[in-house]
Amino acid sequence: ADGQPVADCLFCKIVAGDIPAAVVRQTEDTVAFKDINPQADIHDLVVPRAHYANAAELAANAPELSAALLVEAGEVAKAEGIADDGYRVVFNTGAHAGQTVFHVHAHVLGGDFLSTFGN
Ligand code: 5GP
Ligand code: ZN
Repeated sequence: ADGQPVADCLFCKIVAGDIPAAVVRQTEDTVAFKDINPQADIHDLVVPRAHYANAAELAANAPELSAALLVEAGEVAKAEGIADDGYRVVFNTGAHAGQTVFHVHAHVLGGDFLSTFGN
């Protein structure tokens, strides 16, 4: 995994501007946009411009970029006005977790009460 674009990758196409998306924020390294099928009042996706299949691949191959992605998830929450009330950051990894797009993306969810698990 070297971060190079993948021709048939949906999120590489959004990063390149070849497929439109409702962009919330952009940085040199990341793009954040609205999820097309929101599962919460606020549901954004934050992706690195570079292509890595999932969070583990990103962290193993580009640790500084994985940190930048987490920082940007926090900035997106602030921009959406959900940082103070609280929000969730999720990385689905692999088929059993329901990952359908194999370009790493942080789901940023908030804005209303989220269902919880483990308590
Ligand atoms: P995953 O299940 O892989 O963690 O999440 C993929 C997410 O991408 C889903 O929440 C889905 O709604 C979203 N998604 C799929 N296709 C598109 C698209 O073309 N545009 C946008 N903005 N989101 C998409
Ligand atoms: Zn990609």
